[in-house]
Amino acid sequence: AAGPKGKALLSVSDKRDLAKLAEGLTKQGYELVSTGGSARSLQDSGLTVTQVDELTGFPEMLDGRVKTLHPKVHGGILGKRKDTSHQEALQAHEIGLIDVVVVNLYPFRQTVTASQQPSFADAVEQIDIGGPALIRAAAKNHEDVYVVVDPADYEPLLEQLGSDAGSSQAQHFRRRLAWKAFQHCSSYDSTVSEWLWSQIGGENPPPALTVPLQFSAGLRYGENPHQPAAFYTDQSLAEHSKGGVATATQHHGREMSYNNYLDADAAFSTVCDFPDPTCVVVKHTNPCGVASRDDLLEAYRLAVRADPISAFGGIVAFNREVDEDLANEIRNFRSPTDDETRMFYEIVIAPSYSAAGLERLKGKSKTLRILEAKARAPEGRQLRQVAGGWLWQQADSLTPSTIEFKPVSEQQPSETQLADLCFAWLCVKHVKSNAIAIAKDRRLLGMGSGQPNRVKSVEIALEKAGSNVEDSSLASDAFFPFSWNDSVEKACQAGVKAIAHPGGSMRDSDAVDCCNKYKVALVTTNVRHFKH
Ligand code: 5GP
Repeated sequence: AAGPKGKALLSVSDKRDLAKLAEGLTKQGYELVSTGGSARSLQDSGLTVTQVDELTGFPEMLDGRVKTLHPKVHGGILGKRKDTSHQEALQAHEIGLIDVVVVNLYPFRQTVTASQQPSFADAVEQIDIGGPALIRAAAKNHEDVYVVVDPADYEPLLEQLGSDAGSSQAQHFRRRLAWKAFQHCSSYDSTVSEWLWSQIGGENPPPALTVPLQFSAGLRYGENPHQPAAFYTDQSLAEHSKGGVATATQHHGREMSYNNYLDADAAFSTVCDFPDPTCVVVKHTNPCGVASRDDLLEAYRLAVRADPISAFGGIVAFNREVDEDLANEIRNFRSPTDDETRMFYEIVIAPSYSAAGLERLKGKSKTLRILEAKARAPEGRQLRQVAGGWLWQQADSLTPSTIEFKPVSEQQPSETQLADLCFAWLCVKHVKSNAIAIAKDRRLLGMGSGQPNRVKSVEIALEKAGSNVEDSSLASDAFFPFSWNDSVEKACQAGVKAIAHPGGSMRDSDAVDCCNKYKVALVTTNVRHFKH
């Protein structure tokens, strides 16, 4: 017979906190009904449980594929409490009501992402059928039924059950649970669907896209204080365990903000593209300081000096471990423009920290966010929202090693200039279009970003490079539509000695002629790096 308060059905794969919940339910007068494994686990904790096969009069069968798929279960969940014909039907078929349903699903994601890959058949076995049916039934009938899919809701459930079930607060709580329940099923189904897509070769573009997004944290606000915001992690299999900012560990500092996530992502994606020990400083998603050196500390010094005014309040990213010496340098470095002021950074992000390095860095300030992240594999999808839709693309994973830098001017680029062009090319890839990067000796000297005309970006980059521009190399994310008295000539006149652009303009020959006049080496790459 049902307990004085009714029946609670418990069927969970993740058995965390299950006994505690069951104990609470028993105390409140609920009869516990449970499936094989869950029932055993409860009995082990000394609780009294009705097996679901006792309730249905039908054994669990087909290796567990059919456990709870039975009218005695689903009728008991779905029957409307205030509907006389429903109640008569339940009585006629001797179906008792089930008021609380606690389910979480087979660990499909964990199975298919485990280091030991399951066979196809084993993975299919992990597709939960009865679980989602229970969750959906209970969520549909949330007018009367509590459905819990998240152990974090066990405590609130017990609290709520202890007070008035008919109250509007209880109704609101059940709606909230139902909303969460459908999220749980939907994310689960996305994962299964995505896995099947990968099993048939992962055709691109995916004909339908469902991204399982997991709520990660509420953010104080969005880009501006009047915009509510939150952070969600992408749980899709392709992204899983691939690293990147979303999977970073925060060791120290103030909580991450919306803009922090954007900027940290830009900085870390940029730095991870460079093969040598490199430091990248980012402001407002654009790299404003980049330097590669054999010694990471030296790379840091140069990157910050590239544009110290912009670096103030920036994000500093490394692609190698931060040790104690480097941490000391970051801690003590004073603004080159103002000796009184220590540099202030929002975030330091790196793949690892030595123990002493981390301790030193923590001492820089209470607020400095210190993140540790794994490099994200460069392939992978990118999604962006536009009003009313989403854009999908494969990430821009080209690096200079996969590009042919083809000399097209009389002046041939020297080895050093080619290396500088490669470096500038990697920088420009991460700068908002129209993007210009000027570099020398594995160091960014200046960049122009986001200008609606290219010549302005060139002027800004030249101005930032200042007197260092002599003998430098310049890369442009897209071709030069005009050269004379425009982008190319201005660069030549300023002292740039090598230029790379994709080529392909109607006036490509103007760029060649102009470079020939100034004895500047011009190369084409045939590859564009727009970043809008
Ligand atoms: P247990 O460990 O209690 O034997 O099984 C719990 C799991 O079984 C839960 O994850 C639940 O979602 C799932 N489940 C419950 N009923 C059914 C069913 O009828 N068929 C299948 N395939 N899974 C079920």
